Amino acid sequence: MKDRVAQQQLNELLHQVRENESKLEKFARLEQRLVAAINLIDMLQILLVEFPVDFSLQAVLLVLLDRDGEWKRTLGEDAVQRFAARGLRLCPDFLDAGPDVLPVLRPSLSRFEPKRHGGLFANLATQPGSVAILPLLRQEKLMGQLCLASERGSRFADGDGTLFLERMATFMVLCLQNALYFERLERSSWLDGLTQVNNRRYFDTRLIEAVHFAFRHNQKLSLAIFDLDHFKRVNDKWGHQAGDFVLQQTAQLIRSHLRNSDSFARYGGEEFVALLPGTPQEAAIELARRILQAVADFHFGQTMQLRLTVSIGVAQLGQQLPSDMVVSAQGLVGRADAALYRAKRGGRNRVVGA
Ligand code: GH3
Ligand code: MG
Ligand code: MG
Repeated sequence: MKDRVAQQQLNELLHQVRENESKLEKFARLEQRLVAAINLIDMLQILLVEFPVDFSLQAVLLVLLDRDGEWKRTLGEDAVQRFAARGLRLCPDFLDAGPDVLPVLRPSLSRFEPKRHGGLFANLATQPGSVAILPLLRQEKLMGQLCLASERGSRFADGDGTLFLERMATFMVLCLQNALYFERLERSSWLDGLTQVNNRRYFDTRLIEAVHFAFRHNQKLSLAIFDLDHFKRVNDKWGHQAGDFVLQQTAQLIRSHLRNSDSFARYGGEEFVALLPGTPQEAAIELARRILQAVADFHFGQTMQLRLTVSIGVAQLGQQLPSDMVVSAQGLVGRADAALYRAKRGGRNRVVGA
């Protein structure tokens, strides 16, 4: 009798050890995949799509505090919507996350309680058996929370060791945060700090890609260079800060006339450049004229009596397939630049085609 009880206890223990081992193994694989993920989108795919399947979870909900909208900006509208359907919730504040999302600072494991958890997992076909709510903490700051639902009532129970789950949540938030920082850095290296439009570095890279694409698909490609007229006078008369403000406004004004598929960058001090795929030179000149008029009509600032004009040079990519795409891209910029020079010489506030 005693032997049988001991044997049974031993079996249970062994079973638990094996289960823990397999859990750790699965977790190690998850860790590996998270570390290997190259961007936030891949990471969300792992956390919200693969993780629930691998760990036999009924649902996973990832709530991320997004006070300044950076998660949303970095992920983009499309991805936010796509992952919202898989359990992603971005909220400026826990108060806006819905009455059911209560911030927790310690893991909370319990049977499912409709009153407490109903809203969290409202869209599930069947009611979960138990839930785990894990705070996502980074340097003691609450970044969000991970909510796990299981069909089994005994899966998450109060008093269970939470070390494993805490470690998993910490690892996840670390990976997510790193990916966010990395994408922030990458984005900022493509942006001009003053105007928040793309910078020269971005443009040079994009230009070569666009030239390749245009030749491969036998597509027209035009380029316009903009140079503000007598901009030095703006600085001299109104000061550098006003000059900076004018540059910001001009960048936004030009950008607002372009399509999403066009590229636009600050090329240098008071010079901007637009790359117009699929646009022949005549159409590019027409567009440039509309922008020229918009700049001339624009009132910069409410108190300043500040008006400004711009000169624009436009060129189109040659038809002849070149031996070197870089030379071809340089040629395109060179011809637009020469046209701009003629616009300046011709009296400014005008568009000249190459
Ligand atoms: P033009 O009609 O011949 O183009 O005359 P311009 O005065 O616009 O041209 P110029 O090249 O002589 O002067 C460009 C000015 O742009 C000089 C420079 O101080 C100013 N500038 C360049 N970058 C910035 C900037 O980031 N902020 C401000 N405020 N001014 C800038
Ligand atoms: Mg200039
Ligand atoms: Mg100028």
